[in-house]
Amino acid sequence: MTIDFFSNYTMTIDGEAATSQASFEVINPATEDVIATAPDASREQLDRAVSSAKAAFVGWSRRPLTERQALVAGIGDAIERHSEDFMRLLTLEQGKARAGSEWEIGGSTIWCREIATQELAVHMAEDSGTRTVETRRVPLGVVGAITPWNFPVLLAIWKIAPALVAGNTMVLKPSPWTPLCSLKLGELLRDILPPGVLNVVSGGNDLGAWLTRHSDVSKISFTGSTATGRKIMESASGNLKRITLELGGNDPAIVLPDVDIEKTAKELFWAAFQNSSQFCVAAKRLYIHEDIYDELSRALVAYAGTVKVGDGSHQGTDLGPIQNRMQFDKLKEMLADAKRDGCQFLTGGDIPDSKGYFVPITIVDNPPEDSAVVVEEAFGPILPLLKFSDLDDVIARANDTEYGLAASVWGKDIDAARAVAERIEAGTVWINEVHTFSPHVAFGGHKQSGIGIENALEGLGEYTNSQTIVTNRAA
Ligand code: NAD
Repeated sequence: MTIDFFSNYTMTIDGEAATSQASFEVINPATEDVIATAPDASREQLDRAVSSAKAAFVGWSRRPLTERQALVAGIGDAIERHSEDFMRLLTLEQGKARAGSEWEIGGSTIWCREIATQELAVHMAEDSGTRTVETRRVPLGVVGAITPWNFPVLLAIWKIAPALVAGNTMVLKPSPWTPLCSLKLGELLRDILPPGVLNVVSGGNDLGAWLTRHSDVSKISFTGSTATGRKIMESASGNLKRITLELGGNDPAIVLPDVDIEKTAKELFWAAFQNSSQFCVAAKRLYIHEDIYDELSRALVAYAGTVKVGDGSHQGTDLGPIQNRMQFDKLKEMLADAKRDGCQFLTGGDIPDSKGYFVPITIVDNPPEDSAVVVEEAFGPILPLLKFSDLDDVIARANDTEYGLAASVWGKDIDAARAVAERIEAGTVWINEVHTFSPHVAFGGHKQSGIGIENALEGLGEYTNSQTIVTNRAA
């Protein structure tokens, strides 16, 4: 199938292309040029997408699991066949550098193939010969998937693959800032999936709200901000939708005094600045033991000086721009506040007066614990370094947040690092590494970083209801 990835963006409703009377512009954040227009779905189109998914559910859910698994693995193959186009388009609409697009598109293929190997076992609670009690997992129906703009393809696949393997159908709504790859994915899959199994609709936040309130939608799987997560929880209550919410974070990294400074500085840099820090699990507060604070901060700043920020489509660029004007303005304000509060910058801090939403790598020297750069999720390349001397104190500071997504602990004494890790309130705690994900490892937030799990059998199970069948054979 030949698809032009760089023009003619249409939605996919009931296996067919759908345009819309209204449309909105999509901007390349590196140049601020309009690169495309995307359809702005009407309420009627959303209703049509949901009823198509509802109709398709009957056949899809009854299809043998092995067939659904094969089709989901086939989604991975299709992405791989078009990986070059996906990577170029992802960089254009999201801004990320080539290496980031390779990671995301390569990961999407891997996820499809691996999730397609998963199966939820039937649990036989009792089998006495004349009586069996078994619990199996059955699909829910129509899933509404809502995704953010930082990893628009991979985070959509994290939802599509398990939802479809489990026997559900879907309506996917990508972020209005980055709808293009998702629209092309829908187009690509028109030839692969039966009509209605995966509908892709584009539009603004209202469209998301319609989806979350729709009475024929059984579950919402959402990745985005905590503020929107709260709204979704409310609107999903109408028909008691199941919800999986992957929300914001303010991840601490705790660096113990025995680390190898040079090696750890480089790892911490990427822990914090990968994807220009537009990463839910970016290290957003770096707690460094006072004995190594000066040396490690010097090494971090030196390493930052070797990293190139620029247009993601240019060779040699390591980090791209901020994805959109709204987030860019928020970061500008955060920097202005930090300056007003007297914060000292070890590097960065000044936004260049040029085209594109570029924020320089900014490292803040030991700001007060209650300053905005520490308390708020920046979701951009502004990193506070914070000094500590006492373990109980730093663990309390690390946990003093409404978030609980992930964290990392760094130290050569593994027992000491492990003892710290166990006291951190977060869904994932890495020790001496960071950002390693797997389709077979559960991921989810504590506290206000989310509800539920993605990935692993636990994540697959979230796309099902449990059903117990009790059979009395002595009748
Ligand atoms: P956002 O909440 O503004 O938007 C996410 C999606 O929700 C978009 O598609 C948007 O159109 C839609 N939406 C907005 N209002 C809605 C409403 N009332 N009802 C239904 N849908 C609505 O988030 P964002 O700015 O796109 O993403 C950044 C946030 O996402 C950060 O807080 C980040 O930490 C978080 N995030 C979390 C994870 C994770 O796995 N936990 C991963 C990536 C990003």
